[in-house]
Amino acid sequence: MPSTAQLGLFDITPATAPKRVRRIHPSVPEVPATTVPAALLRAADWILLNSSGGKDSQSMASHVCRLAVKLGLLHRVVIVHADLGDVEWGRTRQLAEDQARRLGVRFEVVKAEGGDLLARTVARFFKLKAKAEKEAREEGRDPSTAKVAPAWPSASARWCTSDLKRGPIRKLMTRLVAELGDLGRPVRILNCIGQRAAESAPRAKLAPVEIDRAASNGKRHVTTWRPIHGWTDAEVWKEIARSGLPYHEAYDWGMSRLSCSFCVLGCEADVVLAARLRPEKAAEYAAVEKKVGTDFKHGLSMQEIVKRGAELDAEHGKLKRPPRGTALAMYVGKNATRTYLARVERGRLDLAV
Ligand code: SF4
Repeated sequence: MPSTAQLGLFDITPATAPKRVRRIHPSVPEVPATTVPAALLRAADWILLNSSGGKDSQSMASHVCRLAVKLGLLHRVVIVHADLGDVEWGRTRQLAEDQARRLGVRFEVVKAEGGDLLARTVARFFKLKAKAEKEAREEGRDPSTAKVAPAWPSASARWCTSDLKRGPIRKLMTRLVAELGDLGRPVRILNCIGQRAAESAPRAKLAPVEIDRAASNGKRHVTTWRPIHGWTDAEVWKEIARSGLPYHEAYDWGMSRLSCSFCVLGCEADVVLAARLRPEKAAEYAAVEKKVGTDFKHGLSMQEIVKRGAELDAEHGKLKRPPRGTALAMYVGKNATRTYLARVERGRLDLAV
C-alpha cells in the first residue's frame, strides 16, 4: 500500500468539479514580441536548454550554443536535466552533464520528490480506486464493482511529464530568477525545448515560439522556443556529427527515442527492444501492471511486450553490443562517423558559426 504522503501526490479532482481558473499576472504578454532567433536570445536573461540527454535535446543544445557564442551570450545558457531515476536509460544524467561540460555551459539537474514513475503509478491507482469506490457508494452501487480509471500515464493524461519534468524545472526557474535579484522588471527566461514537428501530429501543431503563460508570473516571463521544430531526423543527426557531442548508446542498439526506457507513448519496436535490453526493469513494469489492473500501454501490456522480446531472443539469440556510431552512420556514412568518434574521443567540439 502507498503511504498517505504518496497518495497526496495526486490531486484527482472529480470530473464534474469546476476547473480552477488560474489567474495570469497582467504583465505577462499574450504573444511573443519576436520569433527571430537572435532577438529571442538577446532579450533573454536566462537561456534554459531542456535536456533529456536524447538526440533532439543535444542537437538543439549545440545549435543554440553556437548561436549564443556568436552573440556573446553563452554565459546566460543553462542546461537542465530532469532526472527520472532508474526508469530512464542508464548514464543519461551523466551524458547530459558531459554534454553541458563540453559545451562550456552551466548544468543543473532537477528531480521530482515523491517517487519515480512506477511508484507514482501505484499511488495514483490507489487514489483513483478510492475515488471510484466512494462515488459508487454515494450512488448506491456495490463499490467492489466500481470501474477504476487507468493509472498509467497516457497521451491524454500525461502526468508523467508534468510531475517529473515540468514541475521540477519550474522550481529551477524560480531559483534562477532569485539569483538575478531585483531587475526592476520580470526576469525573461527563454525556455528551449527540442520538440520537433516530425515526431508526431500533436507536436507538429506546436508553435515554434510562444509565451508560456502558465509558467510566467509577475517575477518571470517565460517564452518557449522550439529551435529545431522544423528539423528532420537527418538534420538532427547531421548536427550531432557536426557538433562532436557524444550521444547515448541506446540509439546504436536501435532505440528511436531516449528518456524513459519504456515510454507509454513509445512505438512497439522501441518498447520490445527495451524489454530485451532491460529485462529486470520490464519485469518491474509487468508487476506494477498486475497491481494496477491495466495495460502499461493502451492496447499493449508489458506482459505481452516481455513475451515478444523473449520470442525474438529465442529466434535470433541475445542482442550483441553494436559498434559505436551505428546509428549515426546510417545518416552520415561510415567515414564521417569515424571522424566524429575521433573528435568525441579527443573532446573536440565545433561551435564555430
Ligand atoms: S518518456 Fe514517456 S513515459 Fe517517460 S516521462 Fe516522457 S512521456 Fe512519460
